[in-house]
Amino acid sequence: MVPEKNSDVDHDFLTDPIQLERDGDWIVAPDTTLGSDNGVGVAMMMAVATSDDVDHGPLELLFTVDEETGLTGAAGLDGSLLEGRRLINLDTEEDGAFYIGCAGGSDLHATFDLEQVKTERPEQVRLSVKGLRGGHSGVDIHENRANAIKLLARVLKAAMDASIEIDLVSVEGGSKHNAIPREAFAQIRLVTGATDKLRGVAAAQQEEFEKEYGRIDPDLEVVVEEMEVSDSVFTDDLTRRLVGALMAVPHGVLAMSRDVEGLVETSNNLAVIHTTDDGIEVTTSSRSSVMPALRGTVEQIRSAFELAGAEVSSPEGYPGWTPDPDSHLLKVGREVFEDLFDTEPAVKAIHAGLECGIIGEKVPGLDMISMGPEIRSPHAPGEKVQISSVQKTWDLLKAYLAELA
Ligand SMILES: [Zn+2]
Repeated sequence: MVPEKNSDVDHDFLTDPIQLERDGDWIVAPDTTLGSDNGVGVAMMMAVATSDDVDHGPLELLFTVDEETGLTGAAGLDGSLLEGRRLINLDTEEDGAFYIGCAGGSDLHATFDLEQVKTERPEQVRLSVKGLRGGHSGVDIHENRANAIKLLARVLKAAMDASIEIDLVSVEGGSKHNAIPREAFAQIRLVTGATDKLRGVAAAQQEEFEKEYGRIDPDLEVVVEEMEVSDSVFTDDLTRRLVGALMAVPHGVLAMSRDVEGLVETSNNLAVIHTTDDGIEVTTSSRSSVMPALRGTVEQIRSAFELAGAEVSSPEGYPGWTPDPDSHLLKVGREVFEDLFDTEPAVKAIHAGLECGIIGEKVPGLDMISMGPEIRSPHAPGEKVQISSVQKTWDLLKAYLAELA
């Protein structure tokens, strides 16, 4: 479980029992996380193992550690330990749904050497793009929310196209690889009078951005504020290469799935830019449920940065789980679900990482499905689980195991 508590509560997760409350059809832990994610899954596996009235074939029960902190337990699994080739994962938090796919991910880091010159230009401003919604770079990416770093690059490009000589002092934006950047800033030195011209460009760009993103990012702002001057600025060459790269690197949805309606197959988040004493560091985070598409996206981004003269590294990512609409496990699951509940299950996939992506890569030919009860706020105090959905999940699991026996 994710151990989170409200700051005004005295609770030691290592020694204190979770305080539970029943609220109608829900069990809730008002001031801590509850651990229904994924205590329910663990409990059901132990119940299957210890019951003598559950009909099933040979079983292997796989318990992993640290799913919540980087999927490292699954990553450390020796796949040859498993003989089974069908896996029912019990970590889904949605009643009535089967999950059949997830995204893999890969980050990339580009570094531009800091090439600076001294400047005598009298004016300096801070150009800000702010007020954006941001959000999770996996599960919110389909909403086409604005990316502050991309918009900042567009304002800089528009200023250059309007023949405003911009001498960059620094560029900053975003905070985490898996968050869509909400804010980005550039410090710029300018010749006398250019500040007003830049304000004009910023206002015109803001108007364009409002047409493009106003409905999803209504508080978007492009602001130019005067500030004290710094000594050194980026060379013109570095500025052109950097702005060009930020324009060229894609952000957002790159492909939709052909197998699961509404699922984002491939995306990229232009996540973070940061100016240090040595260089300008840019981080991107790509996701796809199809591994060749993920590799292709990372190489596309690498090429853009390398053309711009940056050093690029991309640590090994984690694998996705490609949806298989013809899965035998899914076919049986649908039949069992419809028999039990007289309605069709939702069949879904998620544009974020799950353990199944990693486990599937370690066990060739593994047919997988994920299911579970209705859990709300799984990683926050107030986590709750719906009692009736636990019963439904248990009934479904028993019928599933019997059918597969
Ligand atoms: Zn969780």
